[in-house]
Amino acid sequence: MFSLRTCSVEGCHHYICADENTCYHHSNDKETILAQAQGQLGGKEDLFDLSVSEAHFCGLTLAPKRMAGNNLAWCTFTDVDFSSISMANCFFDFCLFERCRFNAVDVRHTVFAGSRFLSCDLSNSRFIHSNFSGIAAFTSNFSECDFYYSTFNTALLTDSPFEDCNLKKTDFRHSLRKNISFRYSNLEEAHR
Ligand SMILES: [Zn+2]
Repeated sequence: MFSLRTCSVEGCHHYICADENTCYHHSNDKETILAQAQGQLGGKEDLFDLSVSEAHFCGLTLAPKRMAGNNLAWCTFTDVDFSSISMANCFFDFCLFERCRFNAVDVRHTVFAGSRFLSCDLSNSRFIHSNFSGIAAFTSNFSECDFYYSTFNTALLTDSPFEDCNLKKTDFRHSLRKNISFRYSNLEEAHR
């Protein structure tokens, strides 16, 4: 698990990057931290305990691997491909995902709460017991996924299909849905 120590800058509540006294935003060497993180994400080694928040990752393809206990909250991901990743207990809260792919991923106990998904493709994946509370999704594809026990409560979902999904115990309570197709999905087994 990443360190839960917070940044040494007064008033900053972000977690420190490994071996630093500050968060990424307040580091004197952001370039090195970002380059290392990009190398770890793109590399083939399994990835544990990485903590970088508020960074911008652009045009990156992750190699298939296992990821656990990583904190990437408040980051922006543009044209990043997470496909074939196996992930557990990771934190992506309040991120912005633009044109990202999560195809054939196996994601468990992972937090995307408060994030924005713009033109992303999450299809043909497994997101078990994961947290999408309060997300905003526009023109994104959530079809052919297993969302068992995941929550989308208070989410704003627009022009984003959830077709042929397993929605058993998936929570859509208090979500706002505009032009969302649930064709071939078991919506009757979801909480809504
Ligand atoms: Zn800080």
